[in-house]
Amino acid sequence: MTKIDYVFKVVLIGDSSVGKTQLLARFARNEFSADSKATIGVEFQTKTLIIDTKTIKAQIWDTAGQERYRAVTSAYYRGALGAMIVYDMAKRQSFEHMAKWLQELRDHADKNIVVMLIGNKCDLAGLRAVPTEDAEDFAHRENLFFMETSALDSTNVETCFITILTEIYKINA
Ligand code: GDP
Repeated sequence: MTKIDYVFKVVLIGDSSVGKTQLLARFARNEFSADSKATIGVEFQTKTLIIDTKTIKAQIWDTAGQERYRAVTSAYYRGALGAMIVYDMAKRQSFEHMAKWLQELRDHADKNIVVMLIGNKCDLAGLRAVPTEDAEDFAHRENLFFMETSALDSTNVETCFITILTEIYKINA
């Protein structure tokens, strides 16, 4: 039995269909599903990894569709040390809603929460609707980490989770 040194809760937020569930499936189980919501109802998944010789259990929460009904509650944010706000790189509107999601975090989450902006679906290069620089500018202004990912082809998925968990570790360990 491995001894767990830390449990870090991270929440995924962002508009419906941006790929939150698939990012989590890719990270936690190295799976991807083209039909949405194969995992509806699952609250969180865990993955244990080593950071700086410590055993960290990442507990990653997915909204499981609650965002559609504007029903992401404060219980969802409770105890979260990190948040990934996800938009779909091919859908401009999902990026425009980032300010709203940030406000939601400021209203409900701990003020020291580590926040990372994620532009998902970067495999859809020909359909890009959000230039990288726009997202970088926004992230810089708002003091967020930023990465572009693809849950489909795995680009940066592991890297983004490891980055946020490492930052959480630096602050909380
Ligand atoms: P959620 O509502 O934010 O949890 O979004 P889902 O994870 O359910 O994904 C919505 C749709 O986008 C599904 O059809 C996924 O297969 C698809 N999808 C998710 N991530 C990617 C990605 O990185 N690239 C592409 N091309 N499609 C993706």
